[in-house]
Amino acid sequence: MHRPLEPARRIRYLEMQPGALYKSRDIPTRRVNFMPRYAFYLIAGLLFSFSVFAARGPEVPDYQAEEMAPGVFVIHGPLDYPTPQNQGFMNNPAFLVTDSGVVVVDPGSSVQTGEMVLRQIRKVTDKPLLAVLNTHVHGDHWLGNQAMRDAVPEVPIYGHPKMLEAVEAGAGQSWVDLMMRATEGATEGTEVVAPNKPVDDGDEIAVAGLTFRIHYYGHVHTHSDLMIEVPEKELLFLGDNANNGRIVRMDDGSFAGTVAALEQLKKDASAKVLVPGHGRTGGWEIVDANRDYMATLYGSVETLFEEGLSDFEMKPQIVEQLVAFKDWVGFEDELGKHISLAYLQAEEAAF
Ligand SMILES: [Zn+2]
Repeated sequence: MHRPLEPARRIRYLEMQPGALYKSRDIPTRRVNFMPRYAFYLIAGLLFSFSVFAARGPEVPDYQAEEMAPGVFVIHGPLDYPTPQNQGFMNNPAFLVTDSGVVVVDPGSSVQTGEMVLRQIRKVTDKPLLAVLNTHVHGDHWLGNQAMRDAVPEVPIYGHPKMLEAVEAGAGQSWVDLMMRATEGATEGTEVVAPNKPVDDGDEIAVAGLTFRIHYYGHVHTHSDLMIEVPEKELLFLGDNANNGRIVRMDDGSFAGTVAALEQLKKDASAKVLVPGHGRTGGWEIVDANRDYMATLYGSVETLFEEGLSDFEMKPQIVEQLVAFKDWVGFEDELGKHISLAYLQAEEAAF
C-alpha cells in the first residue's frame, strides 16, 4: 500500500546521512511500529475533543423573559444558591428595549447564562446592544458580561469604582472559581470581564433614549452597590440591597448600612416597578420588608448584646421576632450567620 512520507521521518532520514541529496520520492519509507497509526489518530482525536468540549460547560436552558413594564424585561432566576442543577443561574438579569437599542442590567453568573440572556433578547428585538450595567461585585450578577462583550466587543459596561477595584484585586477570579466549585464545572469557560466605565452616586447615563440615574449609599450589601432608577419607565433596580421573599447574603454587607440606605432610597427615588436582585419584581413593599427584617434583626442583636448575651444565646428570641420572615428562602440556613455577623457589627459599633 502506498503511504505518503511524514515530514518528521523524512528529516530524520536526511540527517542520518549528511551530504546525501534525495528527492522525497527516492527516500525509502521506514516504518517505526511503536504505535499503530489508527491508535495515534484515535488518541489525537480524543485529546482534541476534550480540549474543545471540556473547556465549556453546557448551555443554560432558556428561561422566559417577562415584560414587567413596556419594553422592560426581567428573567426571574431560581432562588437557590448555585448548584449543578441551576448551573449557577440564580439572579434576575433584565433588559430594556427601545427604538434605538438594548440595555442589559446584570447579565448573570456565567458566560452560559449571558448567552441565554442574549437568546431571550433576540426573541424580542434585533436592535443593537448599547450598554451593560452591573449592580455590584457579586459574580452571580455579572460574570455574564463575557457573553455581552463577545457579542459586541465595544459595548460599555458600567459599575461602581469600588467594584472595578475589587475585581482588579482578584474578586472576579474568586467568583469564577466559586461558581465552578458550586456547579461542579457547569460554568466552565467563564472568564472575568470587568466593567470598564465607573459610575457613582448622582451620575446619569443617557443611553437608548433613557436615563439611568445612579444611587450609591456606601456600605450596604457590599461596598459597590448601585441602585439604578430609570425615570422614563418608573423603574428601579435594587440589586441585592433588597431581595423579594429571599434572605440576602450579608457576608460582605452592613445591617445598619442597609437600613439607612433603604430609608434614604425612599426619599431619593420614585418608581412603580422595583426589580430586586433575586425574587419576583414588585413594588415598594420589597424595600419595606427588607428594611424591617434588617432593622428588627440588628435592633434585637444590639439590645441583647447590651444585656450580655452571646450570639447563639440570642437566636431563639430573634427567631420569634422575625417570625414574619420565616418563609423566606434561605431563612433557616442563613439566620444563624446573620446573627453572628450582626453581633460582630454591634460589637464594633459599641466600641
Ligand atoms: Zn449580592
